[in-house]
Amino acid sequence: MRVLGKIVLALVGLAVVLAALAAFLMRVPTPDSAFHPFPADRACAIAITDDTDYFAFETVAPVYGLIDSLGLTLTKTVWAFDAEGVDPASVGLSLENDDYRAWVLEEAVRGHEITLHTATARHDDRETMLAAYDVLEDLTGERPRLEIFHSYNREAFYWGSERLPNPVLKFLHGLTHEGSFEGATEGSPYYWVDLSRGLVRYVRSFTTNDINTLALNPSMPYEDARTPMAPLWFASSNGREGDYFVSLFAEDNVDRLKRERGVSIVYTHFASDFVEEARGGGRRPLRRDVRECLTRMGRDGEIEFVTAGDLLDRLRLIQFIEDALAGGGTGTEAGRTGRTVSSIAVASGLAPAIDGISVDPGRLSGASAGSERTPLRSWLRAEGVEIVPAAVSVYDGARRVGWRERWRLVLRWLSTQVSTPTG
Ligand SMILES: [Zn+2]
Repeated sequence: MRVLGKIVLALVGLAVVLAALAAFLMRVPTPDSAFHPFPADRACAIAITDDTDYFAFETVAPVYGLIDSLGLTLTKTVWAFDAEGVDPASVGLSLENDDYRAWVLEEAVRGHEITLHTATARHDDRETMLAAYDVLEDLTGERPRLEIFHSYNREAFYWGSERLPNPVLKFLHGLTHEGSFEGATEGSPYYWVDLSRGLVRYVRSFTTNDINTLALNPSMPYEDARTPMAPLWFASSNGREGDYFVSLFAEDNVDRLKRERGVSIVYTHFASDFVEEARGGGRRPLRRDVRECLTRMGRDGEIEFVTAGDLLDRLRLIQFIEDALAGGGTGTEAGRTGRTVSSIAVASGLAPAIDGISVDPGRLSGASAGSERTPLRSWLRAEGVEIVPAAVSVYDGARRVGWRERWRLVLRWLSTQVSTPTG
């Protein structure tokens, strides 16, 4: 009996310690960057990534109709090809469908970013992935900046349980989730991680239920020492279906996002539950709460809607600038650090992102209260600092995710998985 009592006591003690550790890891820090990846006249940024699953004109076109009428931009994913032996009507159209291809092109012309949801709705081997990137480049005239893996497609790399930094968690997760992923398995027909950095800059990974993605993942886009060769990772916020989307963007959440000067990268499927049933055989109307939610945000001048590629470029450019400034003060700080920075070399592909960034000079100089934000370009000019596009890659000096941030993402992701399992 006494032994049993000791065991129970030890287990309770262990549970308390684990709960305290989880609480410590889950706590979201107050973002402290003086740089913001949105213009000075905006309070936050929202980047919607629309996974193409189950695309059908009757369910998705009404959502884009409203988004386009509000003048918002987002990231739409596509499949380049129909999956072999699968009826496209059952999983969603691909670019092999002429009407869909023409519609996607129209949406691209409106300013939406088009990128792959890997090549097809099913497993894609290396050759198919490469061919899909060519198809996309033919369509849009440029290489996409990001990749978004689909569900349990085997060509995904460091996906599913492989994302977990602990063998016990991996094992437990593997018991309840299907899928094996071979994108990083040398010798597999699905291996392509070695080519991935030449094709895209960023890949979406962990999803959480919190609206402020950047607060949870302040180092994004980040490199992970455990995933060599992979492009830079970024997290997303869960708005996967109509209900999740509307509750993620409830008014009080959006108000908080603005107060926190936050950034939300949203994971959603516009084909899933954004419209109502057709009345009398006509077009399917948007759900009223979806219409109200998008309209409220679209007309809110403090919110910037931006493509995920543009947003991630801005964040990566901010990292270049922060790292350069950390190595020496700007003109005004020269006295403090003893060094001045007059030029900052950045990956040339990132240079256009400069106009989407604002800076809070007060916070940069260590003041506790923020000051008026100003466009990055004019602040740099005033400080006598020049941004120089250089022959460096976006991976040079990439930011590494720390252990605590990784665990926070893992724990948040796992808690999201309990309610809404994804690949
Ligand atoms: Zn998908």
